[in-house]
Amino acid sequence: MKKLYFLSNYRNFFKNAWATRCYSNSTKNNVNEMENIRNIGILAHIDAGKTTTTERMLFYSGTIRSMGEVHHGNTVTDYMEQERQRGITITSAAVTIPWRGGQINLIDTPGHIDFTMEVEQSLAVLDGAVIVLDGSAGVEAQTLTVWRQASGYRVPRILYLNKMDRNDAFVEACVNSVTEKLQATPLLLHHTVRHEGRLIGLIDLINLEEIIWTQGRGQKFTRRKLTEKDDGHKWEAAVTDHRQLVDTLSSIDDEIAETIINNESLELSARDIENAVRRSTIKMKAFPILCGSSYKNIGVQTLMDGVMSYLPSPLEGHELYKCFGEELAGRAFKVIHDDQRGVLTFVRMYSGEMKKAQKIYNLGQDRSEQTGALYVALADEYRPVESVAAGNIAVVGSLKATMTGDLVTSTQAAANRARGRLAALLRLPGRVEELMLPSAKQRLQALDSEPEPEELAEILLGIGTTVPEPVFLCSIEPPSAMHQAALETALEQLQREDPSLRVNADDESGQIVLAGMGELHLEIIKERIIREYKIDVELGPLQIAYREALVSSGKNTLTVDRKIGGARQQLKVTMSAKTVKGVAQDKILRLDKTAESASNLAHLHPRQLQAVRQGVAAALLHGPKLGCPVVDVQVTLHWFESGRGTSDSVVTASVAQCLRKVFEEADSILLEPVMSLEVVCPETHSQRVLADLSRRRVEVQHIQLRQHNKVIECIAPLSEVVGYSSTLRSLSSGLATFSMQFHSHRQMAPQHEQLAVKNVTGF
Ligand code: GDP
Ligand code: MG
Repeated sequence: MKKLYFLSNYRNFFKNAWATRCYSNSTKNNVNEMENIRNIGILAHIDAGKTTTTERMLFYSGTIRSMGEVHHGNTVTDYMEQERQRGITITSAAVTIPWRGGQINLIDTPGHIDFTMEVEQSLAVLDGAVIVLDGSAGVEAQTLTVWRQASGYRVPRILYLNKMDRNDAFVEACVNSVTEKLQATPLLLHHTVRHEGRLIGLIDLINLEEIIWTQGRGQKFTRRKLTEKDDGHKWEAAVTDHRQLVDTLSSIDDEIAETIINNESLELSARDIENAVRRSTIKMKAFPILCGSSYKNIGVQTLMDGVMSYLPSPLEGHELYKCFGEELAGRAFKVIHDDQRGVLTFVRMYSGEMKKAQKIYNLGQDRSEQTGALYVALADEYRPVESVAAGNIAVVGSLKATMTGDLVTSTQAAANRARGRLAALLRLPGRVEELMLPSAKQRLQALDSEPEPEELAEILLGIGTTVPEPVFLCSIEPPSAMHQAALETALEQLQREDPSLRVNADDESGQIVLAGMGELHLEIIKERIIREYKIDVELGPLQIAYREALVSSGKNTLTVDRKIGGARQQLKVTMSAKTVKGVAQDKILRLDKTAESASNLAHLHPRQLQAVRQGVAAALLHGPKLGCPVVDVQVTLHWFESGRGTSDSVVTASVAQCLRKVFEEADSILLEPVMSLEVVCPETHSQRVLADLSRRRVEVQHIQLRQHNKVIECIAPLSEVVGYSSTLRSLSSGLATFSMQFHSHRQMAPQHEQLAVKNVTGF
């Protein structure tokens, strides 16, 4: 029997009806509505097909009437101008897609390595994710990165093998790469169907049905049960993998194992299997694999069905937020500046509801602020609403302080109640792991002792996401001094949108210095300032963010006695410094405990100690070699004597000056950022690529063959791979790809250090 499914106008009608119901009159959270929401992200290695897949989802759901293509620069989610020009996705845009009576809220995450920060921020608010693999490449370097991040945030995932239209795409090889590289249990749900070498459809391995897409743009498809009589080999292969699927499920899911044992006919219903897949996926014991070719319009509807069937609803989301009960709880995951609407903050709602023009309380910053207008988002289009209920994504206008990563509720009292409930939960055995967030782990590591439940609750509720180390620096200059203030405002706004951008004013030169994640990252910041803020800025040459470490130790005493503005300033400090690898932030300054020093330092006023700390922090910002931040150093205060009326700022400045002398005496070496680099290139070009790499101080760790490609994994100093993408393109006639991420800071050989100093200082 043939069943015909197609999209018609009723879906559009339904969509509008749904939107009204869901946003406008929702005075209370409706459990039925929550059950049908999926907050998901699409994560992938660059070029696996995220944007293409998203565009198809919007089209088949009736949200857009025509379909854009990445290479035409007209897709909905790549809406910022630079993205269209470059054909890559930079901003996480939240897109709402109605599907099967429910709603998929999709956060389009960037795949470029420069923007890992954004990926992390969106992961923190996802209930589930689709990991897109290029069916001809399987698991790639960036796939591994996002996979690990998703595991850290405990986000259940389904895998989508895209590009199955390609002749070199292989389901089996991809499944193997999932088992081997991700060390995950795959649940293969599809086979592909080809006709004269062309992909025309899929086989649904749960229902044993063939699905054939019959129309050019893929709106229509037919389903038909496979039979042993008509389908021979196809049927046999499908039945084999169907059994394999059931076997795997029964080994990880007790419920289905029980059904099999108690079932005499040995026949499981498709429902039973689907439910077992859902349970295993949500518990992250296994990961469904679906197939398709978004570009050729095959398999996108089945992927969306998979999202609804197997990924969790907000009701099954992160346990942490349950401590807010019915009270408003939401996490800001994106701040943007819209020309007409001003600042817009994207907030993932966990409980309660957000109304327009209400007071909210920001837990991280311990302050309240007033919301303005309220919207829901369709890429770059905003629809005004009265309220947004739990489970959804609110776009809030007029917030001034709330930053990406902040958690908000209604009032401080509500926050205190939530903290109390959370602390009670944390006292129960075995709950800590379940309630943990990766961003909290780092803060916990910095603590000296095991935190009490109250303290732990505070850390879990109070924190944003961790900001990665910036590896590139460059100065930025306005066209004239007149534009200085406008530039500072622009940078302030951009920094709120993107905490991985750091902005520092260099006291000595008066220059503004940007620190960022990569060449492209800083380049895009520049373009946005020119385009959106209309300031014609220039970037200075790109510099590597080196660190300095001390070679030996040093000690110095500084005495100050002079009149400043009529007041006598008298001070004597003695300080020393030595190398301590990985020293914790709160252990950088220690006080000398020997008898004489201890009795001297006992008189130190807390306010003066604070001034000393500030001096230490200032000194650590600029090492003696190149003026780069000094790391792995511990500083000891041995002596502190001050006259009456000596100001704190003189204390700070003197401590910094004293330490600079200490650092000079101890001498420093440069540490350079090194990156882990993975290059994938055709075998035919691998000799040239390797020869080039060997000239770049690269440490090759692993080379393997993947189909016709060599995969080269190595550790490379960042300075050697600046501009590598264009080199690689010309070496491989555009056939090779690479990905890179920060690995560590490492000491350099003396001749390379000399070269680095020369590059930065010019002599
Ligand atoms: P993203 O970087 O993950 O967003 O990937 P894009 O959606 O931008 O796709 C990268 C490239 O792969 C584009 O040139 C697409 O046209 C192409 N592409 C996407 N999906 C498919 C597919 O299913 N088959 C083939 N052959 N190409 C595809
Ligand atoms: Mg994209």
